[in-house]
Amino acid sequence: MRRSKQNYRCSFCGKDKSEALILIAGVEGHICEVCVEQAVDIIEEELYGNKKQQQQQQVAAPPAPSSDFNLPESMTPVDIKKHLDLYVIGQDEAKKTLSVAVYNHYKRLRQTSTTDEVEIEKSNVLFVGETGTGKTLMAKTIAKFLNVPFAIVDATVFTEAGYVGEDVESILSRLLQVCDFNVAAAERGIVYIDEIDKIARKSDNPSITRDVSGEGVQQGMLKMLEGTDVSVPPQGGRKHPEQKLVKVNTQNILFICGGAFDGIEKHIARRMNTHVIGYKSDDSTSMVIDRDNLIKYVNHMDLKRFGLIPELVGRLPVATYLEPLDFETLKRILTEPRNALLKQYTKLFALEGIKLSFTPEAIDYIAKKALEFRLGARGLRSICEALMKDAMFELPSDRNIKEFKVTETYAADKFERSKFGMLKAA
Ligand code: ADP
Repeated sequence: MRRSKQNYRCSFCGKDKSEALILIAGVEGHICEVCVEQAVDIIEEELYGNKKQQQQQQVAAPPAPSSDFNLPESMTPVDIKKHLDLYVIGQDEAKKTLSVAVYNHYKRLRQTSTTDEVEIEKSNVLFVGETGTGKTLMAKTIAKFLNVPFAIVDATVFTEAGYVGEDVESILSRLLQVCDFNVAAAERGIVYIDEIDKIARKSDNPSITRDVSGEGVQQGMLKMLEGTDVSVPPQGGRKHPEQKLVKVNTQNILFICGGAFDGIEKHIARRMNTHVIGYKSDDSTSMVIDRDNLIKYVNHMDLKRFGLIPELVGRLPVATYLEPLDFETLKRILTEPRNALLKQYTKLFALEGIKLSFTPEAIDYIAKKALEFRLGARGLRSICEALMKDAMFELPSDRNIKEFKVTETYAADKFERSKFGMLKAA
């Protein structure tokens, strides 16, 4: 027979059904809402107590002093470049420029005296260079070295306020997210804005069309690059009135922008031709122009002609270039960096007890194919995966194999059978 309602009591505190808001029934007894809450507290305390405390400490950490940077006072631009050399092959000019910019940026951050009238301005950096030449890698490497928060954003997703797309402020949302919303940490971070060339003004005459994704976005970025308080939507996207915004000061954030600037060579060539007029041909001091690699002469004038607004160019005072990767550089990328691809495969195999090696001819073959298919450094990985897939699949089951050598013949055979080989055949 069903028990009468007044007999229902919380089996933990004894509270009657009439006194409890909710009484949950179990097989044998009941529990009221107050006891449920207490039980949840006990579980959290017992199971997650330490973790929660740690999290609270992280969130409540006081703003880190500037000495927290992993850049000792004695560190020079030469030292910074040496570190970049461990990860980035070639690109000496860009590495030097970045080392100096970073060195000055953090020196500026350290300076405490405000009595001096000379204020060191920010040295935001602009990288011009084909895709896959190491722009992102450089920015990432330097941020890791300095132990500061780092975010990569793509300029193409931003639009002028009022249009579909993300607000430029959400550039900083990514930075906040990577450092668990620690504003003080974010305010010393580095942001890499990729594809900055894609927001170039489409025409030299700004009044011809309303340029939704170009000039307006550039305008929107100006203050942020220069250094100001920005109200950031913590989750990114578009701002809306009910949203809680987080204030981030960008004064000490280093912005590194990068882009391929396809076609900028024609602006450089035009400028250089004008420039060269007037030099006597027999003048031994006249500059010999490397016409195959005009990108190395890029300057702020060319960037403006390309479609960056002068104000934006002014806020990216350090402009440098990355060279296209040639055969020799691709080969070095395969073997030299600290986490070079071939080193990674060798380590993977070593974990299986197999000594992996690549003949010089096999390395040449991989680099040659990356060039042939115009895949750049990014393609090296897909080519290697295609070559190594069968070996990685089969060798772990054969305990007798202790050594494996990748020769050119082996590489060519695997490559031809892969999707790349089919592409070529098509
Ligand atoms: P970008 O930003 O210029 O398009 P990335 O920096 O993303 O190119 O490069 C893509 C990948 O290619 C990197 O992860 C890296 O492995 C490799 N790479 C490109 N350039 C270099 C380089 N100069 N030295 C070492 N590795 C490189």
